[in-house]
Amino acid sequence: VNHVVVVGAGLAGLRSAEALRSRGFTGRITLIGQERHRPYDRPPLSKAVLSGAADSSFVETDFAAIDVDFRPGVSAKALREGVVETTEGELDYDGLVIATGAEPIRLPGDGPQHVLRTLDDAHELRAGLVRGARVAIIGAGWIGAEVATAARRAGCAVTVIEAGPTPLATAVGTEIGARTEHWYDGIDLRLDTMVGSVEEGGVELVGGEFIEAHVVVAGIGVRPAVEWLAGDDIDLHNGVVTDEHLRASLPGTVAAGDCAAWWSRRWQTRLRVEHWDTALNSPEVAAGTLMGEDVAYDPVPYFWSEQFGHMVQYAGHHPAGERLLYREDPGGTWSAVWLTADDFLTAVLAVDRPRDLLQGRRIIAAGHRLDTERLVDPQVSLRDC
Ligand code: FAD
Repeated sequence: VNHVVVVGAGLAGLRSAEALRSRGFTGRITLIGQERHRPYDRPPLSKAVLSGAADSSFVETDFAAIDVDFRPGVSAKALREGVVETTEGELDYDGLVIATGAEPIRLPGDGPQHVLRTLDDAHELRAGLVRGARVAIIGAGWIGAEVATAARRAGCAVTVIEAGPTPLATAVGTEIGARTEHWYDGIDLRLDTMVGSVEEGGVELVGGEFIEAHVVVAGIGVRPAVEWLAGDDIDLHNGVVTDEHLRASLPGTVAAGDCAAWWSRRWQTRLRVEHWDTALNSPEVAAGTLMGEDVAYDPVPYFWSEQFGHMVQYAGHHPAGERLLYREDPGGTWSAVWLTADDFLTAVLAVDRPRDLLQGRRIIAAGHRLDTERLVDPQVSLRDC
């Protein structure tokens, strides 16, 4: 391989370029990114940046030192074998990394709506979160909850509108979601409520009610940013379809981060995980595969969210129907663990219990049976169960 083109200059794109170099790749690397910024981390956007504690979250990089030709503000438009068509002409490649991430889904309607994906989005939204402003957030998922946290802290009058019966219902199920409902203290939380459209001055609910708002934020999820590949000769299905080596169907092509739908050996299913840990670690495997090494990506997926003063962390993967048990501490912290019928741990969600998360993730990776009687005692370390 002589020339690798990396499309997408988010964390996964940057890490792919770095991983190629650290694995000894000496050919040319071109990194193109649609945004005009150099690569930055997104998790702080809904936390430190939105609250005003930080203005940016750039990842430290020295493109000259790793000899990467970084081209901000350049988008890929289409792909054919050996050539990426971009907004600035064609780029020939013999190795390609697709790391275009994901893009937020918007609500119908002509009224102004914010989404939160980019640094620019975060700055625009932050300007609207002023004391007394009426803020309507649609979606009580991870992003909705974090935006609501920042808006409440800023002294806004916050309404959160969620189609499901509880917050976080799609992400972790209604049983866990219900346990987070009381965190929305002081917020007008509307559950089982569908938004019809965003209009000037607020949102119209299905059924006709109008909720007035100065600021409307859509936090209803993202889709993989792979539209530019549609119609090209590459398998797409909820992202770029790859094998366990992150190899896509087109020769010389790999995918990493939010846009990759990889085959997981561990879970025997296809996974696409829109979280930071995947963007951080999948590029090592993508780079290795491009260089002809025999490497596989098979993590116990991990993510965290900081909302309403709580640290929520999740590791694993829980197919529907797994048993759910709790480790509850009278002090208010708790963890939920998902078990198979024969008591193997498949996932853990920890609220303000980082040790449970760490130990749980190790247990899932090692794959051993747990003693469920000890497990429900929060005083007993998970690793001793
Ligand atoms: P992205 O970060 O989406 O980067 C892809 C880049 O490719 C973008 O810059 C995009 O502009 C560019 N691009 C797209 N299409 C093209 C094209 N055709 N040509 C050129 N460039 C293109 N995860 C957690 O685990 N914990 C958290 O607390 C957490 N908080 C988050 C908070 C926010 C506000 C957001 C938005 C995300 C959060 N995440 C969190 C998720 C995490 O940030 C993502 O999983 C991670 O950013 C994915 O990285 P990526 O490089 O795969 O994709």
